[in-house]
Amino acid sequence: MLYLDNSATTQIHPSVKDAMMPFLFEQFGNASSKYYDQATHAKNAVDEARQHVADLLQAKTNEILFTSGSTESNNMFIKGVAHHYKNKGKHLITTEVEHPSVLECFNFLEQEGYEITLLKPDKYGRVSVEQLASSIRPDTILVSVMWGNNELGSLNPIKELSDFCKTNNILFHTDATQVLGKIKIDLESYQGITFLSGSAHKFHGPKGIGIAYVRSDEYGILTPFTPLLHGGGQEQDLRSGTLALHNIVGMGAASKIAQQDFDKNFERITQSEQLLIDILKTKFGTNIAFNNDLNDKIPGILSVQFKGINNEILLKKLAPYIAASTGSACSSSKPSHVLSAVGLSIDDIRSTVRFSLSSYTEPQELEIFKSL
Ligand code: PMP
Repeated sequence: MLYLDNSATTQIHPSVKDAMMPFLFEQFGNASSKYYDQATHAKNAVDEARQHVADLLQAKTNEILFTSGSTESNNMFIKGVAHHYKNKGKHLITTEVEHPSVLECFNFLEQEGYEITLLKPDKYGRVSVEQLASSIRPDTILVSVMWGNNELGSLNPIKELSDFCKTNNILFHTDATQVLGKIKIDLESYQGITFLSGSAHKFHGPKGIGIAYVRSDEYGILTPFTPLLHGGGQEQDLRSGTLALHNIVGMGAASKIAQQDFDKNFERITQSEQLLIDILKTKFGTNIAFNNDLNDKIPGILSVQFKGINNEILLKKLAPYIAASTGSACSSSKPSHVLSAVGLSIDDIRSTVRFSLSSYTEPQELEIFKSL
């Protein structure tokens, strides 16, 4: 079986599994307990994992909060900022092609009386700083733009967008779920990014664990927002719940490996991807079309139209040999809102398949496409 659905989720790296195992058995302590060894070990392991995540992002350790994943981080930031700054303004900006865990938060806030502006993407799913500039208002409190799109792999001009927000004193959130470990992120030089969301399972870590990055000021004070989960305040009073020790250790290990192997993985994925593009072009010619900007995107994500072929039927036929998807695994029953926002016809959407590769994709396995 050739697994080409890595944008939906990835397999755990063997070293990540090895790092996690002790924390499921003998080292099962609660990181918030005190004085005895299991508690101290747990706390040290969490500190170490936080350091690895911070290193991956070029962030400070106190700026990394552990959550259950990007869905939670997105909910936490979008609702938390809206509620905290409601007296400053009630206008928020996002894009039409965000993940449902972003868009549904804005829908929810609209029902609460907030005003939302949705930026329209270009044909590859990107928005521009000019569009943003013409959409801000004196009462705009938050802009949320995804770093990379999960269906098209398109990359937004995050530096320009976030710098613009900083200049205009507007908080900026980015959903970086699809780019962590795949493009280099240096939050030291992206000072306009206030908040960032990510999930470990997209880069060979475990499911159910993610991060919420919160920028701190020169005194180390985190940008305030209203917490989503109230309780014991384990994560600096901004997120409550017993820390998922084994998962946190797994995310730390995955971050360390992603950083160490970055260049090797990048080269491997781009080479496999080019091979797949060449095979598809040779085999199908003008019967296929790529929805991506092949010159500027997240490595490994291909969105391909198979002209005149229904994507669901195709995927079912391929299922014994190749695992792929029509687009987002999170909303697979509806026609993709992303592909429709970039202007594709319903027929083109219904013929689109997403192949997403990883460093585990063996180039020789891609030869199977020649025999389809
Ligand atoms: N944002 C994007 C861009 C995603 O691709 C996903 C996962 N498909 C999420 C958010 C949500 O991540 P999780 O399911 O890990 O919470």
